[in-house]
Amino acid sequence: MDPIFSPPLYRQRQQFVIDFVKKTKPRKVIDLGCGECSLLKKLRFHREIEHLVGVDINGAKIKRKMHELAPVSTDYLQPSYDQLRVEMYQGSVTQRDARLRGFDLVTSIELIEHLTLADVEHFSAVVFGYMTPVTAIVSTPNSEFNPLLPGLSGFRHSDHKFEWSRAEFRSWALRVCLEYGYEVEFTGVGQAPQDQQHSVGFCSQIGVFQRLEGRDRFRASLSDDEEDVFSYTLLYCINYPSLRDNNTLRRVVVSEVLYWAEHIKNKWMEEKTGKKNDAFSLCQTEGGMDELHFEPHMEMEEKQTGSKMTCVSVPLAVLWSFCPKIEELSGSLSNLRHLLMDEPGVKLSQDGSSVLVKYQEQDQEEEVEDFEDSNYAECSHSAEQEEDWEV
Ligand code: SAM
Repeated sequence: MDPIFSPPLYRQRQQFVIDFVKKTKPRKVIDLGCGECSLLKKLRFHREIEHLVGVDINGAKIKRKMHELAPVSTDYLQPSYDQLRVEMYQGSVTQRDARLRGFDLVTSIELIEHLTLADVEHFSAVVFGYMTPVTAIVSTPNSEFNPLLPGLSGFRHSDHKFEWSRAEFRSWALRVCLEYGYEVEFTGVGQAPQDQQHSVGFCSQIGVFQRLEGRDRFRASLSDDEEDVFSYTLLYCINYPSLRDNNTLRRVVVSEVLYWAEHIKNKWMEEKTGKKNDAFSLCQTEGGMDELHFEPHMEMEEKQTGSKMTCVSVPLAVLWSFCPKIEELSGSLSNLRHLLMDEPGVKLSQDGSSVLVKYQEQDQEEEVEDFEDSNYAECSHSAEQEEDWEV
């Protein structure tokens, strides 16, 4: 079929759902008949969604693209507070699965015409009687538009079992509403030329169903013994990193702390030596354990402790007030200390009030190796760390 729409019709259908999501901000969304996950891939960027599920009868189709739903590097490097769990199931919309109940939005885009009419009845019972989403968006071809599609004879796809006129779609949708306690509005995408819009309608017709309050008096296809039906196969699931998860929060705080501790140390060294960049080579460490102390507000004094490592001690209080992100992430100084305690990448002073950053001469390679072997971390945002996160 010639591409007579711009943007293409499938994009217009997806955009319809995306605009709806932007407007109504559902937290839990299912795409039925998700195919190769293309709508889901777009929806995952709408981070008000916390739970995103795809279902298709064709597991091979899902498997081809489901890994593209995985978080990308920036999701790990700059996680937000938003949470997102993605699940992909192989299963038929004519069968129930308890994991799909209680969602805010269910979409079924160009799916029902692939079902026999008997299965459309099962679909109605499963979606509106069992899953009972707050909202459902159902799209299907409008057969009245077909004469405008160049070169088309018969159905738009060989697998279509039917293609409904607007009246037929309307009749099914209104029956669903009566039976299961919903109301519906009709719209569509893919406009006909101006003078034919009224007579043929949209190329894809869409019903937006809203669950009615107090729908208990309507037919619900759920009885007690059916509540825990699990007929779908879970193919893929992933949780996006979120700052609400303690491990992710700790990882980001550690990364920020190491980065800023190093930055503060370098600044101090620049000021102390009056030179930039070559500050390392200008400081004399002599292998003795020099612990260089910041006073609050970045004043420092030098103190000999007799150990082997030379460190700069950067007080947590300085980090906390110097870097708003550390303050925001940790909430309080004691939380910050708590998050850093027992972190192998962070060396705290004995009283736990400062981060010890290695004071390192650039040309002392052996020392560098020792340092890397030890439990001290190199200063933040290292490539190795990022690779680990991606893995
Ligand atoms: N929704 C996607 C879109 O808009 O691009 C894909 C639409 S494609 C025309 C129809 C999809 O419905 C196919 O991926 C097919 O495998 C799936 N499908 C057909 N019968 C199904 C059933 N009984 N249960 C779940 N999915 C089904």
